[in-house]
Amino acid sequence: MADILSGKEVAQALGERLKEEVEQLKSRGITPGLAIVIVGDRSDSMSYIKGAQKRCGELGIDCRLVQLPENISEKEFISQIHQLNEDKSVHGILVMRPLPTSISEDRVKYEISPLKDVDCFNPVNIAKVMSGDEKGFDPCTPSAVIEILDHYGIDLTGKRAVIVGRSMVVGRPLAMMMLRRNATVTICHTKTVDLAKETSRAEILVAAAGKAKMIKKDMVASGAVVIDVGINFDENGKLCGDVDFDAVKEVAGKITPVPGGVGVVTSTVLAKHVIKACKMQTES
Ligand code: NDP
Repeated sequence: MADILSGKEVAQALGERLKEEVEQLKSRGITPGLAIVIVGDRSDSMSYIKGAQKRCGELGIDCRLVQLPENISEKEFISQIHQLNEDKSVHGILVMRPLPTSISEDRVKYEISPLKDVDCFNPVNIAKVMSGDEKGFDPCTPSAVIEILDHYGIDLTGKRAVIVGRSMVVGRPLAMMMLRRNATVTICHTKTVDLAKETSRAEILVAAAGKAKMIKKDMVASGAVVIDVGINFDENGKLCGDVDFDAVKEVAGKITPVPGGVGVVTSTVLAKHVIKACKMQTES
């Protein structure tokens, strides 16, 4: 039976460290500030925002919501981003995606200041993930995966890591981050010929495909570390991951649950990035 890797435990330990950093900043008269920008009111985005606001509040970070109307023009949207870039009380900016089709993500991603881009939207930060430049901002979800591995002392050096999913939000940046830690990384996707063969070779398996319970017991090596990034609903409308948890925990060595795994850590990682941005902007 696998050990459970608890996201709650990781978030709590990281949160304690972050609180001390915020206190140090506050003793210098500085309060870290985050602006979350949303166009419209998508319910999944709003529930993520609620969680992020709560976590920031607990850690002493100012969190401002900039909610823009669904019919805002691209020009007006960019002007709002520029105002936040200039605002000295805002150290981090998070733009909720997807944006409405009237706003081109490919155009606006260049407008957010790379120094305030705490979830790696601007290609400048994506390049820093690729090159391993620690002064950039890795995206929060893959960073949460790394936080979990670090917290539980799981060394990636020389390990066979397999990631299912190649999105720009999770799979690809995570591959780069694991490579940085000297894992031998394989990325799988919908055109992978024999997915089970690939996943069965993994010492560390990350599922980030967005398909409910698609990773079955016979796709996982005995003793493997299994990290489930997926957030889905099963046939009964119950929240579940990409991993068939109840069956896979019989063979895996360690496993993250859903809920209570990666998702719980993500908002604390966001707070960590805001504090890092705040320090970079105030310590020069
Ligand atoms: P995307 O839909 O953007 O990407 C999914 C990826 O998985 C694609 O690369 C796709 O391959 C691959 N894939 C899908 N089905 C299969 C399959 N049957 N076999 C092999 N590969 C497959 O999703 P995201 O990366 O945005 O998100 C992935 C999951 O993570 C979702 O469940 C999402 O809700 C969750 N998530 C969780 C977060 C958290 O904080 N815990 C934050 C962000 C996302 P191809 O490229 O060939 O299409």
